[in-house]
Amino acid sequence: KGSSPEREIPFAKPGSMTRVYAVASGKGGVGKSSVTTNLAAALAEQGLKVGVVDADIYGFSVPRMLGVAHRPTQVDDMILPPEAHDVKVISIGMFVPGNQPVVWRGPMLHRALQQFLADVFWGDLDVLLLDLPPGTGDIAISVAQLIPTAEILVVTTPQQAAAEVAERAGAIALQTKQRVAGVIENMSWLELPDGTRQEIFGAGGGATVAESLTQSIGAPVELLGQIPLDTTLREGADHGIPVVVGHPDAPAAVALRGIAKGL
Ligand code: ADP
Repeated sequence: KGSSPEREIPFAKPGSMTRVYAVASGKGGVGKSSVTTNLAAALAEQGLKVGVVDADIYGFSVPRMLGVAHRPTQVDDMILPPEAHDVKVISIGMFVPGNQPVVWRGPMLHRALQQFLADVFWGDLDVLLLDLPPGTGDIAISVAQLIPTAEILVVTTPQQAAAEVAERAGAIALQTKQRVAGVIENMSWLELPDGTRQEIFGAGGGATVAESLTQSIGAPVELLGQIPLDTTLREGADHGIPVVVGHPDAPAAVALRGIAKGL
């Protein structure tokens, strides 16, 4: 608060050692926040220093999924982020009283994001993950302006209709000149007790998005992994214990750890 001049964003300084990933999706409900929180927990388990900015103003589900029990505290004019599973977390939901809907406009969101990046005491992070709102909105543009080196991770389901909107979310990288770190397909199949895979949402969406982004961007964009439907993932999210931590052998956890290793 106050009228102090804007602080520099440490992640945008030349020579910053922090890898920044903006996790994007075309539409809601594809598992973007689930992927963000589990990748964060998996990277922290590897011994990396990890932070998450929940910039999904419509969802702000990250604190619940990571089981963040505390609110941020203020020390002088810096914000200390709460931690859970060795991940530092800041969410727009932490600054909204009660369960009220957020009706901020673009410029306010830009300002909030700027504050989350500059005025939060992150320390030396190895990785910062940003959970973006679904679609190609103002926040994605703000991220590109505030941290041009942020790479985009696109989350989609196997469904072709979902893949088309996910492509648009990834193609924003062309305009902003950001790198696309890759595509993650979620809800790829359900493994039945007899070992067969039921492809509930169809197949091929992730590969389609990766191919078409490779075409439109003119640089190789890879499908980084496929995450199956898994009840333990959903339960973990509901209980604030990411599946990679609570059920490390569950199919979704194995897939997510593999993706985290490859980042
Ligand atoms: P988004 O951030 O894209 O809106 P969420 O991460 O909130 O999506 O996921 C939407 C819902 O689907 C949540 O209830 C989540 O627990 C569930 N979910 C996501 N991925 C999976 C999965 N692979 N298996 C089972 N449930 C999942």
